[in-house]
Amino acid sequence: MFIVRVVLYALPRMNQVALITGASRGIGRGIALELAAEGFDLVINYAGNQAAAAEAAKLCTERAATAGHTIRAEVCQADVGQAPDRERLTGFTRESFGRLDLLVNNAGITSIGRADLLDATEENWDALMAVNLKGPFFLSQLAARWMVEQTEFDAERRPKIINISSISAHAVSTNRGDYCVAKAGLGMVTKLFAARLADHGINVYEVCPGVIASDMTAPVREKYDKLIADGLTPIRRWGEPSDVGKAVVALAHDYFPFTTGEVFNVDGGFNVRKL
Ligand code: NAP
Repeated sequence: MFIVRVVLYALPRMNQVALITGASRGIGRGIALELAAEGFDLVINYAGNQAAAAEAAKLCTERAATAGHTIRAEVCQADVGQAPDRERLTGFTRESFGRLDLLVNNAGITSIGRADLLDATEENWDALMAVNLKGPFFLSQLAARWMVEQTEFDAERRPKIINISSISAHAVSTNRGDYCVAKAGLGMVTKLFAARLADHGINVYEVCPGVIASDMTAPVREKYDKLIADGLTPIRRWGEPSDVGKAVVALAHDYFPFTTGEVFNVDGGFNVRKL
């Protein structure tokens, strides 16, 4: 054992590895950039926008270099709603890096057509649930099995899972019922995996962004401009993907070792009630 440890310590230090779903654009890209600046190697997953994913990888390696780190950022297309794609994504991570320190379940879609609750369809519900709820659950399962293996091999490793939920987990929008239900469900996914993995030293967190500037919110930009100006949040501005990225970095760095299953709001104070 002593010899194994000596050999391990004699090897050049390996970067930690983060797999971020939906990291080609928006919040996922913001998370990837902040982790790159901290020296994480990255798997940048995307669904269909290869050019955006390649650009994100390039920006991440540049950002890391500016911060004095040398990292690798690999891109991998996979639909997190599809079982074979999830297998391929974790397989790709294993082949590319041989370790996984952080899974960020970020990929998500908004409610298709944003239909009123009374007009919502089962077809759109199923499509959204596959990406926003089933995907994170079963990708966490795959990652968790591998993470447990890694902690058994090296007890000093403290891998983590972070789920990107939303204020929609607790604030209703009657034209996005499926989205709200999926995000509320993701809260239970966080707690379940936190309870199951705690004995292995694997903490699981939920980050709840508020209104963040991205392609997802671009179509409702004017509506939120007005709401924010009218005081929707005490911090009177749009959130940026980097705001979410910084929160993920704090959790990834193990600054909350005695905290798991917890929700971290990144929402400009949306939850503060005023009279
Ligand atoms: P976005 O700008 O629309 O970006 C979505 C990302 O997810 C893209 O990288 C996209 O890949 C990827 N993606 C979509 N479907 C996927 C699938 N089936 N498999 C793998 N990747 C997929 O969205 P965003 O605003 O950054 O949102 C990211 C996450 O934050 C979502 O979970 C969302 O619910 C949550 N969130 C957003 C806000 C907000 O205000 N923006 C607030 C709270 C929570 P391609 O580029 O290949 O299409």
